[in-house]
Amino acid sequence: MQQLTQLVTALREIVGHDGVIDGAAALLTYEADGCVMDLHAPNLVVLPRSSSQTAAVVKLAVAAGVPVVARGAGTGLSGGATPIHGGIVIATTRMDKVLEVDTRNKRTLVQPGVINWELSQHLANYGYAFMPDPSSQKACTLGGNIANNSGGPHCLKYGMTTNHVLALRTVLPNGELIWTGNGSVDTVGYDLAGVMTGSEGMFGIVTEAWVRMTRLPESLRVVLALFPDIPSASQTVSTIIARGLLPAALEMMDKLAIKAVNGMYKLGLPESAGAALLIEIDGVEEGLDDLLRDVTQICRDHGAIEVRPATTPAEQAQVWAARKNAFGAMGRLSPSYYLVDTVVPRTKLPTILAHVGDVSRDFHLPIANVFHAGDGNLHPLILFDRRDRAQLERALGAATEILKESVRLGGVVSGEHGIGVEKRDFMDILFTTADLAAMAGLRRSFDPRELFNPGKIFPASKGCGELAELRQHAIAANEIGDVPAGTWL
Ligand SMILES: Cc1cc2nc3c(=O)[nH]c(=O)nc-3n(C[C@H](O)[C@H](O)[C@H](O)COP(=O)(O)OP(=O)(O)OC[C@H]3O[C@@H](n4cnc5c(N)ncnc54)[C@H](O)[C@@H]3O)c2cc1C
Repeated sequence: MQQLTQLVTALREIVGHDGVIDGAAALLTYEADGCVMDLHAPNLVVLPRSSSQTAAVVKLAVAAGVPVVARGAGTGLSGGATPIHGGIVIATTRMDKVLEVDTRNKRTLVQPGVINWELSQHLANYGYAFMPDPSSQKACTLGGNIANNSGGPHCLKYGMTTNHVLALRTVLPNGELIWTGNGSVDTVGYDLAGVMTGSEGMFGIVTEAWVRMTRLPESLRVVLALFPDIPSASQTVSTIIARGLLPAALEMMDKLAIKAVNGMYKLGLPESAGAALLIEIDGVEEGLDDLLRDVTQICRDHGAIEVRPATTPAEQAQVWAARKNAFGAMGRLSPSYYLVDTVVPRTKLPTILAHVGDVSRDFHLPIANVFHAGDGNLHPLILFDRRDRAQLERALGAATEILKESVRLGGVVSGEHGIGVEKRDFMDILFTTADLAAMAGLRRSFDPRELFNPGKIFPASKGCGELAELRQHAIAANEIGDVPAGTWL
């Protein structure tokens, strides 16, 4: 207790009195991210304003042997920012500045707490955007996007967050501040920005980032196509891609999701439709209408019952709002939902969706589907009432079934939401012990004491420490010969 009081005093010297939260009630705000299956309040929350403040906070925390968990907006859906072993949460909310817009080199320097949507609004003044656009973009931060390698509807054409990160300024777990590069497009040496991106806050805390700016397209078209069922919509997706057409986005909603967004956004979609495809194409104005004609023809060839172009910006915004807020619309159907994030090869979409239907029946829970169909990233929303323990158990069981089937079909257990605590026990259905041990060795090279975001990614049954030791044994056992390196001449 005395140690905690001393720590609070020392932290306040760095970040000011209001930069440390230590009240029990206020700390509850930080007990989970958007995944409320595992809850654990931190001992303290610290709100630094700069890289140097963050480095100083980390030095104090690690000297005291306290776990450190980075947090952006807490919209994560895998428990990534949940401090399951307590400790200090370093929240980046006060590091929310766009520091530089470098149009000549098409890059921008940002602090990690900048909100994704606000960055793109800011860059629009220059004719640019930050392209990764998670559906949570009005709340989530660049730091969270980087740590989770987040995706979004437009990542089909423009790539995931990792494709837009040029260099990261990072506080390492020993409190040192490094840059992974100078922000130029060509990098030399190891791709540390690539390693950091998707590392879920376990290798360091990003305090500044050079990210790419992408020119806004000259023009775009949005169309909503309604299909009798999922197989016809899925086949349409496959044909569009197979013909070499690359839409900016290809998003699908099933019957239940249509019902939810219809009620909320008054889209007037026929509820007899079994699936809706939201297609956006973009590029230079000339030729875009021809492209639109090709795409809508493919929809009709596959049995679309209705093809509705959204012609005005207001209509386009309405259709996109329906898609991006579809998760929220589930509140019209059920008190709680469990959102599963999984991926299958695009051609397996009809198979996995049929399986999701079977799971829904077997577990007696409705499941809606809203997803990035273009890249096979599925988001089944299992509807249940979390106040009912039996329903909660069934929801977890249903999610497990869907994840296992996705892997069996050649997919992976997360498309974009990260592993965190939620999916850590699924890692060993995807990776061998040797695979995981190699990851643990990398993690240990950054954070030998495992103080940064402990308890994430690695299966609870093995843990990073045990896996890292297995790696050490494997290296020792496989050592060939006894000639010291460099003395072979
Ligand atoms: C309604 C809804 C829709 C969503 N849609 C999408 C979607 O379309 N695509 C998608 O990919 N995700 C989506 N998500 C998930 C989530 O929004 C993303 O993972 C997002 O990038 C998390 O950002 P955040 O700022 O909220 O991060 P947090 O949840 O605060 O943290 C996420 C992870 O990043 C780490 N972290 C945060 N900041 C830093 C930092 N500065 N340095 C190092 N590590 C850090 C945390 O420790 C944690 O492990 C959605 C979530 C919701 C609630």
